[in-house]
Amino acid sequence: MKYIFGPVPSRRLGNSLGVDLIPFKTCSFDCIYCQLGKTNNKTISRKEYIPVNTIISELKKVLTSVKPIDYLTISGSGEPTLNSRIGKIIREIKKITALPVAVLTNSSLLSQENVREKLKKADLLIPSLDSAIQSTFEQINRPFKGLRIEQIINGIKLFSKDFQGNMFLEIMLVKGINDSTAEIKRLAEAVREINPDKVQLNTIVRPPAERTAKPLTETELNSIKDLIGERVEIVSKQTIRQVSTIMMETESEIIKIVCRRPTTLSDLSNSLGIKPAETAKYIDALTQKGLIEYKLHGKEIFYQAYRREIE
Ligand code: SF4
Repeated sequence: MKYIFGPVPSRRLGNSLGVDLIPFKTCSFDCIYCQLGKTNNKTISRKEYIPVNTIISELKKVLTSVKPIDYLTISGSGEPTLNSRIGKIIREIKKITALPVAVLTNSSLLSQENVREKLKKADLLIPSLDSAIQSTFEQINRPFKGLRIEQIINGIKLFSKDFQGNMFLEIMLVKGINDSTAEIKRLAEAVREINPDKVQLNTIVRPPAERTAKPLTETELNSIKDLIGERVEIVSKQTIRQVSTIMMETESEIIKIVCRRPTTLSDLSNSLGIKPAETAKYIDALTQKGLIEYKLHGKEIFYQAYRREIE
């Protein structure tokens, strides 16, 4: 399968079957914390990058054989709202399954009315917002030239007002960049205006695109949680529940590979025959369980076994 991946273990969505609408690292941002590495096509140009029929026919095949699934999650290799047919894809998915559809977006295009319109039929939208201050937004998300954070916040606000599904606003906190009192104050104001069902605070748990991007401690996350307001949870603390046999087999395959030798994300995905975005989810789960860790060699990130006794 080229465009459907998983199900993968997700801290927020349980067994999540990924639907990827975009070529690898085609995104309107180039976040310093991106687990998939540098954006190689930074764009705001919306196109039918992958045809609707191709995605739906793959999905039909997967749905007959893969279980259990908690969410169909539109996310993956880049920013999904760049696919101009995302609305049609959501509608077609709803014709073939009753599973809830979640969309993960960096929010960059929510200022456009037609993009908001296309996302209306999703069951869950997880937009991200890492800063409400333009200079910090540029530092952390390295957006396509001309994107303005106040327009993006306004877009999320407008979407939230009419949306019938649930909205969980994700904030990724990076030490020394968007964790100051001034930053959190502005973020808290934006959160109040957006009024999401939940705010999910996250910090770096996976190797980021830039090694300067560092995580916050649990104590720091907890004090920020109190400042943001109500309905706030810390995602990086949530445990991933173990799910299907296929997932366990993939995890154990990854452990076997990294026990043999330190391996990069792209080598792991080639060996497993799965997408980098899917591999990254497994790495997330295994890192959280303390089974693998990463080391930097030059500019490359290598994964290795954390506890040799698991061999
Ligand atoms: S984290 Fe998401 S929004 Fe940021 S560069 Fe990576 S794919 Fe794009």
